[in-house]
Amino acid sequence: MAWWSRKPDSREKELSHNHTSINDSVRGNFALARLEDLVAWGRKNSIWPFNFGLSCCYVEMATSLTSKYDIARFGAEVIRGTPREADVIVISGTVFYKASPMIKLLYQQMMAPRWVIAMGSCACSDGMFDVYSVIQGVDKFLPVDVYVTGCPPRPDSLMEGLLLLQEKVGNERRPLSWVIGPQGVEQPVFPAQRELKGPKRRRIGRLTPPDYASHDLYREGHDANR
Ligand code: SF4
Repeated sequence: MAWWSRKPDSREKELSHNHTSINDSVRGNFALARLEDLVAWGRKNSIWPFNFGLSCCYVEMATSLTSKYDIARFGAEVIRGTPREADVIVISGTVFYKASPMIKLLYQQMMAPRWVIAMGSCACSDGMFDVYSVIQGVDKFLPVDVYVTGCPPRPDSLMEGLLLLQEKVGNERRPLSWVIGPQGVEQPVFPAQRELKGPKRRRIGRLTPPDYASHDLYREGHDANR
């Protein structure tokens, strides 16, 4: 989409001086876009998460709502207490066989389009729990859109996962109700972040403690050691 903006009184000035063409005047007052782009843009920037957690990872998910991390910056602060009003469910924690029917029911109660983020090693695979009572990854019974690894992942990681989900949602193409032709959802295919970031990560010789990542003194020392 392409956007133009003008100050409220600029159009009057332009018209009064009659220095601009009608094309420029029209460009300053209209935003042109395809309807499916507008719908995808709206969906992408207003993802409503379901208030749902399974175990320890949920603490980190809840922390991402606090003022320090402020997930509201990405339009995802409207936490819903019912799956019927939510767009995304974050599976944050260990998925036990016993809980899986309820988790699946909650997912089915969400209205489409709906998305799933698997948060933490337990939800992504099985974490440390290779035992009879734990499902080896929530993708065994739910369609996972984004995997956020870690035990637990930091709130920053969840927010990076949210940004990846937004990118996916913005590029999805879902047929509008009156579209004639193929009706399936076109899902964008993205490479794994491991493939994108792997070479750069392998070159790093010194790991930065997360709490010092933005610390100026640490950065200066890090730069001096290069
Ligand atoms: S990944 Fe780690 S922190 Fe998250 S639920 Fe599993 S054991 Fe807990």
